[in-house]
Amino acid sequence: MTNLPCSADLDLWFAEQPGDLAVAQARCDACPLATACLAGALERREPWGVWGGRIIVDGEVVATKRGRGRPRKLVAAS
Ligand code: SF4
Repeated sequence: MTNLPCSADLDLWFAEQPGDLAVAQARCDACPLATACLAGALERREPWGVWGGRIIVDGEVVATKRGRGRPRKLVAAS
C-alpha cells in the first residue's frame, strides 16, 4: 500500500520536535492500518517513532518524547 500517510515525509514520524510528532499522530488517525500498525510496533518493540498514532520509545507507548539536551543536574546532599 503506497498511499499511507507515512509514505511521504517519513522523517516526520521520527522527528525530534513535539509539534512534528503531533502532526504525524494526526495523520496516523486517518490511516486504515492504525490498529495493526500499533500492534505490530509493540510486538516488535520498536525503539522509537510514531506508530499507529502513538509515540513509542523503547517498545512502549509514551505520552510525549523527551527532547535531547543535557541531563538534569543532580544536587549533592550536604
Ligand atoms: S498508522 Fe502506521 S502505517 Fe499508518 S500512517 Fe501511521 S505509521 Fe504509517
